[in-house]
Parts: sequence; structure tokens; C-alpha cells
Amino acid sequence: MAGNKLINNRDPDFSDDSASSGGDEAEWLDVEPEEDEPLAIVSLLDDSVFPDVMSMLTHCKEKHGFDFLALRQRLGLDFYGTVKLVNFIRQQIHDGRPLPETITLETIADDRYLKPVVDDDALILSLDELDLDDSDQEAVPPVADDVSREDLAALNARLAEELAAVNSQFADYRLAVEETLERRWGDDKRDATTESDEAKDESQYYWESYAANEIHETMLKDTVRTDAYRDFIYENKALFKDKIVMDIGCGTGILSMFCARAGAKAVFAVDKSDVIEKARANVYQNGLSDTITCIKGRIEDIDLPVPQVDIIVSEWMGYCLLYEAMLPSVLYARDKYLKPDGLLVPSFATIWAAPVSDPEYITDHVSFWDDVYGFDMKAMKTGIYEEARVEDLPPSTICGQPSQISHLDLHSVKPEELNFRSDWQSEVTQQVESIDGFLIWFDIFFTRSRQETIPWGTSVDPSSPDSKIPSAVAFTTSPRGPVTHWKQGLLLVDPSKGILTAEKGTRVSGEIIFEAPEENPRALGISMSWTTKDSERRQTWKLQ
Ligand code: SAH
Repeated sequence: MAGNKLINNRDPDFSDDSASSGGDEAEWLDVEPEEDEPLAIVSLLDDSVFPDVMSMLTHCKEKHGFDFLALRQRLGLDFYGTVKLVNFIRQQIHDGRPLPETITLETIADDRYLKPVVDDDALILSLDELDLDDSDQEAVPPVADDVSREDLAALNARLAEELAAVNSQFADYRLAVEETLERRWGDDKRDATTESDEAKDESQYYWESYAANEIHETMLKDTVRTDAYRDFIYENKALFKDKIVMDIGCGTGILSMFCARAGAKAVFAVDKSDVIEKARANVYQNGLSDTITCIKGRIEDIDLPVPQVDIIVSEWMGYCLLYEAMLPSVLYARDKYLKPDGLLVPSFATIWAAPVSDPEYITDHVSFWDDVYGFDMKAMKTGIYEEARVEDLPPSTICGQPSQISHLDLHSVKPEELNFRSDWQSEVTQQVESIDGFLIWFDIFFTRSRQETIPWGTSVDPSSPDSKIPSAVAFTTSPRGPVTHWKQGLLLVDPSKGILTAEKGTRVSGEIIFEAPEENPRALGISMSWTTKDSERRQTWKLQ
């Protein structure tokens, strides 16, 4: 993941668009009764059962004096209105309450009446019979003996069209019911969130940035990222079989759907952003609503319907790994919901830094401002060395050995350890005119148990000094791997404080500090010091 405004600066076409769509066709036709099965329509007002809607309604009118069709017409009800009226009546009768003297639109206004009172209510599933009786619908003409082939074909086509319309009406209905139920559930949780909690969440823009499709398209098309999750989940189905999983920040629901397909018993997909509405639809369309429950809200605010989960899956990584500060939310949920032997997916993350030299980049993005169409625009360079950039640099720009600066065991890391200080050192491997900056990237590892560890120094980048390629599913955002939507973090060295030079074979070393600024915890401050044989410097950058 890499949300908020930075994403708009970047080229979403970093990948080859080869994201596989996967997935079978939705199997929603199961809402329809079997063709040859006799219908059993339970009376709205008593226990009698009828083979079709009209005979049931006639019974209600003759025996109870209740004219459903007249009422429906008086209220001008469409399909959903009719469903609500049916469920309202069924609920009253179920609760042993008489029907009110007058039923108005207000009586059935509450969306909860979209929820079926009777499971697979044959009456609701047969409401199309009523529509065929509606005066505004043309009745199907009887087929005469001498009807031509063409007429039959046309009739067939029309019936197929009507069937498709009815089917889609039921699909929409199922979806509306899902949404209503889950919205209500989410609402309950939101009620539990106090006003002041809402006020504390200053990052409204953050949730909004995840509401639009574009960022999710970018993430899904990042096949390095999405394939790694898919491969880990699908290659380890035994781990997921019959497990309770929580997906923190489900977005479109992709990871939840991988888990459901891998055999999870239940998946709770949580997201505070409005994209959760799309996740719900995606889950429904793929026939996974029975397994995946979408819950709208901050993971910190909602209550899961289960006390503990077996597995937490989440794609929380930001630029330079920790930008956007979603990991603290995952750690919060880990400590609250994950079983003591439960699995976090992914389970290890490492951060690397290396010196880079890229004169071409400096010409294109820094010196560029010195002369723009014959004008001096050096003013545009103000602050240029204080901002961390997100770029994908060619691997050839790396002019020194990468140095590992962080190793996070996600099962045990504490939130306060996410602000960290580390020593770093690098041997210069290329003779360059100047070191123009430092590049930051991260690796991600998926282990199969808490016992399987990734030792310090393990790298997915084969050219790293202590490169020990892991057996676990893993990926790197190093320039030496295929480009990801995270690219790398680029920290440009300010040459006005002295050009940083180093002979090939010499060592550069110093310390690096990652710290989320207090005034904006979603941003990231990175400060680096470096010592060569003749100088010592320090510089600070911000990614915001
Ligand atoms: N899992 C999806 C989306 C990842 S993007 C995928 O892999 O494609 C991260 C998502 O996490 C965003 O949709 C964001 O809204 C959500 N998110 C971030 N912090 C959250 C929190 N504390 N509670 C709930 N959702 C959160």
C-alpha cells in the first residue's frame, strides 16, 4: 500500500498491466428455486402453503380481508418496496403482532425490512410473477399452433431478456441485503466510537485517498506485491484451511478473497475507507459472502464478533516501509486479536540503504531549475534537499554496498520500536564524481510459522553483502528487483554543504534515524549522518 497524496505524483503504469483477473463466475443463481421443484409459498398471514403467489394473495384477501396487491399499488411500490412490505408483514406475524390499521411508506421505510425474515422466502423469489401481472408490463402472448420459427426465436429472446432482468434484480437484492446488514453492523460500532475519538482521527484525507479506484488499481497491478500475497496464501492452503482470518485494511477485498479461496472458515475484512463498499460487492459477486464479512471502521474502533483470530493478513507497507504509519494499527490488532501462536502475514520486513550517484537525475530534476526556457527558476529548488523523494532509480546508480538498517520481526516488534536509530556503513564500489544521495528500500518475507525466522542480513536482493536468499515467499523493492509501486526512497545530499566524494574501496559510515514527526504521525522523518575520512555531515529529510 502507498496511499495519500504522494501516489498522485507517480506513474501508475510502473507495471506491465499483467495482473491476472482470476476467479470463477459468480454463482448467484443459487437464489432461484430449482426448476422442477414445486413452489411452497407460505401465506403472509397464516401457515397455509400455496403453489403460486396469486393463489396465496387471493387466500389472504378472501380469508383475512387483506388486499396485498391493492396496498402495493396504493403505495406505488417498486421491487425493493414490495420486498420490504413482504418482510414487514412477515416480521409482524412472526412477532405475534397484528398488522397496523394503515400501512404507509413510512411504516416500511427502515432498510432492515430488506432483510428476509424467512430464509430463501419463495414469495420474494417469485415476486416476478407479480410484475408480470403489472399493468405496465406486457403479458407474454400465448404461443399459437401456427407460430413461425422466427416468432418463436423472438419470443425466446424476449423471455431470456426478462429472465436476465429478473435474475439481476435478485442479485441486486441479495447485495442490497448484504450491504444493509453490514452497514447497520458498522453503524453500531461507529456509535460506540465517541465524538472525541472521531476528532482524534485527524487523517480524514488519508481515508479519502483510499476511497478512489485508482490507488487500488495501482496496487493490484503491482504484481510483485499482489503475486507475493497470492503465492504465499495459495501455496500454503493447509495453513488457511478452516482458520479465522482478519484482513486489516482490506481495500478491494483481494487478500480476503485469496484467504477464502484457500479454505479459511471465516474472514473479517476491515477498512475504514469507503472502498469497503466495493469490497462488499466484490466479495458478493464472487460468491464469498458466506465466508467474508466486511466491517467498516478503523481497526482500533471496531469490535470483531470473535475474540481471537488465527491469522492476520495485511498489506500495510508504505514508502520507505514506514511512511503512512499503518503498521502501528496492525500491531495494535495483533496484540488485541491474534492468538498467541497465530500467524501474521507477512511476518518479517527489512530496510536497506545504499549510496547512489546519478548525474543524469541531478541534471533532470535539480539543475533543471537553473535555466528553464532561458529563465532562472532557482527559487523552485527551495527545500529540495529537505524532501525525501519516491523514485525508481536504475540499479547501476548504486555506488556502494547496501547496508541493512532495520529488521522487523512483525510477530514481536513493539510500536515504539518503529521509530529507530541504526548504524550504517558502506564500502564504495564504483569510482564516482560524487555521491548524490542515498537510496532506501525494503524487503518483505512471508514465513509459515512463528518458529520460522528470517535472520538479520537475509536479503531478497542477490547483490546485497550478506545475501542469503530466503526459502520463504519474499519480495524486494530494491532497484535490482522488478519495479514496484513503492519504487525507492531517494534522499538527495545537499551539495551546497560540500560535495560528498569517496574513492572506490573506501568506507562511508554513520547513523540513520527513522522517526514519525509528532505533528504528522503519518509522515516520516529520516535523518542520516555520514563520516568519510575527511568530513562528517548530517542531513534530515521528510516524506510527507
Ligand atoms: N489489502 C488491500 C488494500 C491495501 S491498502 C490490497 O492489498 O490491495 C491499505 C488499506 O488499509 C486502505 O484501504 C486503508 O483505508 C486501510 N487502512 C489503513 N489503516 C487502517 C486502519 N487503522 N483501520 C482500517 N483500515 C485501515
